[in-house]
Amino acid sequence: MNTFEQHESGVRSYCRSFPAVFKQAKGATLTAENGTEYLDFLAGAGSLNYGHNNPVLKQALLEYIEADGLTQGLDMYSSAKEYFIDRFHKTILKPRGFNDYVIQFTGPTGSNTVEAALKLARKVKGRKNIIAFTNGFHGCTAGALSCTANQHHRGGAGVSLNDVSRMPFDGYFGEKTNTIAMVDKLLSDPSSGIDKPAAVILETIQGEGGLNVASAQWLKDLRELCNRHDMLMIVDDIQAGCGRSGDFFSFEEAGIKPDIITLSKSISGYGLPMALTVFHKDLDVWTPGEHNGTFRGNNHAFVTAASAIDAYWTDNLFSNDIKAKGKLLRKRLSRIIDRFGPESLKLKGRCMMSGIECPSEQIAADIVKASYEKGLIIETCGNRDQIVKCFTPLTISNEELERGLSLLEQAFTDVIG
Ligand code: PMP
Repeated sequence: MNTFEQHESGVRSYCRSFPAVFKQAKGATLTAENGTEYLDFLAGAGSLNYGHNNPVLKQALLEYIEADGLTQGLDMYSSAKEYFIDRFHKTILKPRGFNDYVIQFTGPTGSNTVEAALKLARKVKGRKNIIAFTNGFHGCTAGALSCTANQHHRGGAGVSLNDVSRMPFDGYFGEKTNTIAMVDKLLSDPSSGIDKPAAVILETIQGEGGLNVASAQWLKDLRELCNRHDMLMIVDDIQAGCGRSGDFFSFEEAGIKPDIITLSKSISGYGLPMALTVFHKDLDVWTPGEHNGTFRGNNHAFVTAASAIDAYWTDNLFSNDIKAKGKLLRKRLSRIIDRFGPESLKLKGRCMMSGIECPSEQIAADIVKASYEKGLIIETCGNRDQIVKCFTPLTISNEELERGLSLLEQAFTDVIG
């Protein structure tokens, strides 16, 4: 198969960014068919926080398969599902004060779980309107897409934006403008024409939209605004959750409690599709079968998800390790910025969800290409794809992280040095 061209069958199945055929992967390393190794600074777009083929998760899965464990269980209760629920409740929810929150397994993707969250909020409040933010990304199914800001993803497909009011995210008008006060004013003024919303949906660190970080104060103010205007707060932690920010949930540092949380990507820990909403038990208004989906019962994903919780979240060690790595990453990125253009380059993001904003999307694309040629898989994000985004597995070693950042620095030398 020619990876640069269309497959002879006519199927466009090649990857447009990386002209290689990948065969194996372990930890933070991808290996192509021709034996070339690449460091992975993409990590399945954040679905591989524990690395490729994590040995602990792999062992748990192999033992489960060997014992003929149930694979697809749909709605049936199973030992694997029960064990996951128990571990998630006791290790993740309870210690963080979410004892009275329930879990709902939705369809397997992030978009599916966003749909469930929006539908739940609308049903609970009996209202349709949802507030979503500039640069937010929530998925590509119709409801999730209507909350996704960037028009690029709608692709002129005529997706209705009815019942979504787009508001400015933290920092959208610069550091000095308080966008919560703006939203408050618009919601309080009948002449704004905005229907009373059922909920707001947000990412605390916008992943696809450009590593824009909501400050802890902004999140606290938004929580308070939601209470005042009787709106539910949905935090979409699909990308920023599962440890990416240094804590299991990205909003922990702000000390807020969303009403609904969406999780997917790294929740299974092994790149297996799995998604869930977590919400306060008082919001559980679903009737049986009201929100369903065939692939809500992937027991292999439950096995690896529970194994990841047991291996990484029973104490603070992993969290501390991520925070230390995040510091190292941001220090090295700052060095690149100082070296190649403190005026034109900008450090973005937080912790292990960080990157560099380039002066143009062309420069960012050139850096991605140059990195690939040096053995580093890295992608861009942002409203114009102008940000080079470092998204490594969280289990990456310091040596690998430093090595990858040296390759990135060399790519900057090639492109703008
Ligand atoms: N929400 C966020 C914050 C995401 O980053 C993504 C995926 N990039 C989604 C939702 C959609 O998830 P999926 O691609 O699994 O549908």
